[in-house]
Amino acid sequence: MLQWWHRLFPSTERFVMQDATEELRELLAGIADLERARRVLSWDQSTKMPPRGADARARQIATLADVTHERFVAPRTGELIAAAEREVAQLPGESVTARVVAKARWLYDKDVRVPTALVSERARAASDGYRVWLAARAADDFSAFAPVLERNFALARQYAACFDEYADPYDAVLDDYMPGMTDATLSALFGELRGELVPLVDALAGRPIDTAPLTAAFSVEAQRGLVAEVLGWLGFDPSGWRLDDTAHPFQSSFSGGDVRLTTRFEPDYFPTSLYGAMHECGHGLYEAGIAPELERTPLGSIYSLAMHESQSRMWENMVGRSRAFCDALAPVLAARSDGALRGLDGAALFRAVNAVRPSLIRIEADETTYSLHVILRHELERSLMRGELAVADLPEAWNSGMRDYLGVVVPSDADGVMQDVHWGQGLIGYFPSYAVGNLIGGQIWERVRGALPGLDEQLRQHDLRALREWLSDQIYRHGSAFSDAELLARIAGAPLRVAPFVRYLRGKLGEVYGVELA
Ligand code: ZN
Repeated sequence: MLQWWHRLFPSTERFVMQDATEELRELLAGIADLERARRVLSWDQSTKMPPRGADARARQIATLADVTHERFVAPRTGELIAAAEREVAQLPGESVTARVVAKARWLYDKDVRVPTALVSERARAASDGYRVWLAARAADDFSAFAPVLERNFALARQYAACFDEYADPYDAVLDDYMPGMTDATLSALFGELRGELVPLVDALAGRPIDTAPLTAAFSVEAQRGLVAEVLGWLGFDPSGWRLDDTAHPFQSSFSGGDVRLTTRFEPDYFPTSLYGAMHECGHGLYEAGIAPELERTPLGSIYSLAMHESQSRMWENMVGRSRAFCDALAPVLAARSDGALRGLDGAALFRAVNAVRPSLIRIEADETTYSLHVILRHELERSLMRGELAVADLPEAWNSGMRDYLGVVVPSDADGVMQDVHWGQGLIGYFPSYAVGNLIGGQIWERVRGALPGLDEQLRQHDLRALREWLSDQIYRHGSAFSDAELLARIAGAPLRVAPFVRYLRGKLGEVYGVELA
């Protein structure tokens, strides 16, 4: 394990054993333990907990959030950080110890400005909001959901007001999910992306593609076997990983040796479980790939949700929906579908899973239309944060955006503005990371293609070791030692760009539709 530190960090120091730095490191390790314990409670809440446990669980999670916050923002932490900064002042900027201290400083300066009462109020609002959202969505009743939105956006504005350096409250919440990202940068990128995608979707949406293989008869039991086999190709290791069922799939890890994936099974629609599991597995590979030396430090988690999503979406789409990987998948689908997909070949599967079909629901959207769903959410949540849009006017704004960007008529709020869990849980500023993840993925994928000339043959053989090792070496092992901008500069030699993702999509869609799009 030592070799890569030599390569990455020229000075071979690990953690300097000075008093304040060492005490700070122990304190931060305890904070990391508390945060992982909270993840266990949340994972259980979404997978195993019986419904009547909900009230007590919401309290337990809020209490743990309080305890973690209070322990971290205690004056002693500030003193230790200041003393540790003096101790590490002589170390080079790329030293791990210096980066641990710098990350602790960044987190502390943020958290210390947020009152504990506001932290626990947001945690409670998230749990309450989740329950109200479930019922309101089931009843298609936006008026029941509207007070949750009022409360969560008001709390998010209170949170943003803790940071007076932001003129725009939306920038303050964006920073939690994508540190350093501002709405000015984001709006420029999304404006360019929207300008590329809307005409592309328009040009392709009406063209015929046979998607019947996706809805072939496929029992849930047979899908379980399919998912287990494909996750095995990706690197799912039963000694350190679990897969469980849930209503809204997610991934969580409690340590490098304990990675939890979830997925959802829909009878006779295998893409939900298969591609959902591949997506979450991409998140899991990232978290499991962080260097063990960074565990229980602030560098032992991932820098931004955008980088996280770049990896989940890369495994789901750039690998999972590639022409070569479809060649590997097709015979397995044919063998496991009880004859329903007998004779399916890779070319037909490749066309079906990449068909451009504007649709209502983001999580079921194809790779091309997906980012437009996100761009709409970005525009709406920003307007709500700034007070430019009233909650009461949200459904209408949603429906007109869906019409403008995707040409889709929204029949109900349940399948419209209430389809996602995020705003109900107070996750505001989160959505953009999905589409930024696509952009980062496009830039990294170009480098992957250049670095691994034998990749298509490996994908065809479902031999994913070389790809996994490349991604681990370039991205996963670093945890959050580098910012997204630093990682992109190291890997792609450029800041965040729209063009590589669009080039990738045009190349693939040209092949799917047999037309020249480049
Ligand atoms: Zn994801």
